[in-house]
Amino acid sequence: MQNLSTILKSVSKPGRYTGGEFGQIIKDKKKVNLRIAFCFPDTYEIGMSNLGVRILYGALNQIEDVWCERVYAPWPDMEEKMKEYNIPLYALESKDPIKDFDIIATSLQYELCYTTAVNMIKLAGLPLYARDRGEDAPVLLAGGPCAYNAEPVADFYDIFSIGEGEEALPELAELMKKMKRNGTYTKSAFLREASHLKGFYVPSLYDVKYNEDGTIKSFEPMFDDVPKKVEKRIVSDLNTSYFPTKPIVPFIETVHDRIMLETFRGCIRGCRFCQAGMVFRPVREKSAEVLNAQAKEMFENSGYNEISLTSLSISDYSCLTQATDLLLEWTNPKKINLSLPSLRADSFTKELMEKISTVRQSGLTFAPEAGTQRLRDAINKNLYESDLMNAVRLAFEGGKSMVKLYFMNGLPTETYEDIEGISVLAKHVVDEFYKMPVRPKKPVSVTVSVSCFVPKPHTPFQWEPQNSLEELCEK
Ligand code: SF4
Repeated sequence: MQNLSTILKSVSKPGRYTGGEFGQIIKDKKKVNLRIAFCFPDTYEIGMSNLGVRILYGALNQIEDVWCERVYAPWPDMEEKMKEYNIPLYALESKDPIKDFDIIATSLQYELCYTTAVNMIKLAGLPLYARDRGEDAPVLLAGGPCAYNAEPVADFYDIFSIGEGEEALPELAELMKKMKRNGTYTKSAFLREASHLKGFYVPSLYDVKYNEDGTIKSFEPMFDDVPKKVEKRIVSDLNTSYFPTKPIVPFIETVHDRIMLETFRGCIRGCRFCQAGMVFRPVREKSAEVLNAQAKEMFENSGYNEISLTSLSISDYSCLTQATDLLLEWTNPKKINLSLPSLRADSFTKELMEKISTVRQSGLTFAPEAGTQRLRDAINKNLYESDLMNAVRLAFEGGKSMVKLYFMNGLPTETYEDIEGISVLAKHVVDEFYKMPVRPKKPVSVTVSVSCFVPKPHTPFQWEPQNSLEELCEK
């Protein structure tokens, strides 16, 4: 693409747009029967750090004659140049325009990415609304956490993948391949067939009526063979399900530039604001042995010197001790760093602290979410101040002096006392440090991070109001 090499010289971070990284998957176009463009509606640095996309990219490319490629949203400087030089949105691996692909899949991770997702349809050169795209246009699919609440963006996509995709999307790809092979493929026939697969919602096959306030009044399939309820897909066994062990190693720095090793899915807790805790149920764990084997393979295939054990709440992982023992056996001599994000203060033990001391993690992060016990109880956080103090004491005893605390503003029933409680709690953490007769040499550092509560669908707080900008600024 001649124009591309010209414009890359005039945009920031050209490494976002070149592809060609170690670990990317290239296939012979002549041997491929189905092409999928996997779009992430955010920058390369964020998209490359998303484990879900990495899993789906690998799972789809496992099918020999299916080629799945990556697409990220261009930064405004690149978008401007692409428009100036008439370059439509293209896939990183082949540089082919995505409007010529069979399926364009988009991962909707958070509501704030909706405008970017829609803009990517525009940049591809396709009509925005599903109803305006003809039979020859690619099938536009959306998935990810936001797909659990598909209606707000239902007009833009032909089909939604509800739930986990590593088994569902290959099934969908096989269906399309079969219909193309036997000559029965038209977009509408395919969508009708796809609606019979578990975990797929085809908005054009349902009659949805709304109440005046925008809530759904009725939801009925328009044909007898279309299911009344769409059930989410889940992977039942993480030990045997697909997991990518050949990570793509980016040329430029990304947000999570390390091995991301998924330990378990779901969360045993039920915090009332948390969508992930609700929609990723039930809890499914990987065994320590499988985890260790995958870690070794990923290290051999990438050369990364850091492994992050990812989950929603790592200290709730029942095989954590066994897994860290197995991992430390070979990562320590190789000086590979193990990191354990997402710790819960109430399941933070001396044993875990000892592991973390060995894994060279500089600071620890806990999320009390609210400053008072009353509000923590209201959001079902199930965390007491004594749990937090116990956890930070263990951290200080283990030689750590940096603690990060995450809170939220604007939670339902919040009062100014709860907000003041945030600083009181943070001060108690500092006091806990100075109460210790023997302290780490470095001075204590307590970082308080406060984000805003956003009511999320499928949570008990889904209908709670969100604070206005003025209210949040005042708080
Ligand atoms: S906030 Fe954390 S602990 Fe609570 S339900 Fe969500 S993931 Fe689980």
